[in-house]
Amino acid sequence: MTRTIKPLVAGNWKMNGVKADLAIAAEVAKGHDAALRRAVDLAICPPATLLFTLTASLIGSRIATGGQDCSAHDSGAYTGEVSAPMLVDAGASYAIVGHSERRTLHGESNAQVKAKAEAALAAGLTPIVCVGETKDEREAGKALAIVRKQLRGSVPDGATASLVIAYEPVWAIGTGLTPTAADVAEMHEAIRAELGRILGKATAASVRLLYGGSVKPSNAVELMNVANVDGALVGGASLKAEDFLSIARACA
Ligand code: PEP
Repeated sequence: MTRTIKPLVAGNWKMNGVKADLAIAAEVAKGHDAALRRAVDLAICPPATLLFTLTASLIGSRIATGGQDCSAHDSGAYTGEVSAPMLVDAGASYAIVGHSERRTLHGESNAQVKAKAEAALAAGLTPIVCVGETKDEREAGKALAIVRKQLRGSVPDGATASLVIAYEPVWAIGTGLTPTAADVAEMHEAIRAELGRILGKATAASVRLLYGGSVKPSNAVELMNVANVDGALVGGASLKAEDFLSIARACA
């Protein structure tokens, strides 16, 4: 953790969740007591279909919501896309951009991720920019170089200290595998340093760097105690209220 940064634990529900699953968020809100609120910021990023209702259901809980992606465009002939102003209209505070599932399944480039992050910023959202290497890239000793390149290509112009970066090794997402604490420490230090070159040291020092990839209650304390890890982006475990809360408590 970074002492001067309030950690953020964000849940990425991916393409999971229907109205009945609002109960998960209600359960999280119940457990988000005063002590936890002081120590950790929480956010839930549900599918777009649930965003408005879920945000409304969380009023008063101090749990923020976010989109899982946003268009680089504000409106127009982009069938199927959801724009950053639409996320704001639905009550979101965050937008995940550049998740590896978007980069891989939809071929999103660094330039596209950057344009989306800039659209999010312009709409008043906090972008959560995801970066991370594949298994082959790590095994080839290229992890640091790949992530630095993703940062240089995807960090939005005009970013401030409110920016959030999520380091998510592709091979750790949904697999139960995690990097060692030493590998996470090395990567997060490198990310902070690269952000210093992009944004200036003072700004970079306050950017929240989340770790994501198979975070669960059993490994959260170890991962969240790594230097320069300022919270978590949680996929599978965010669909179980007790697990999500337990990860949040690991940050506290
Ligand atoms: C994710 O999708 O961002 C993620 C980290 O997933 P999981 O926690 O399931 O590995």
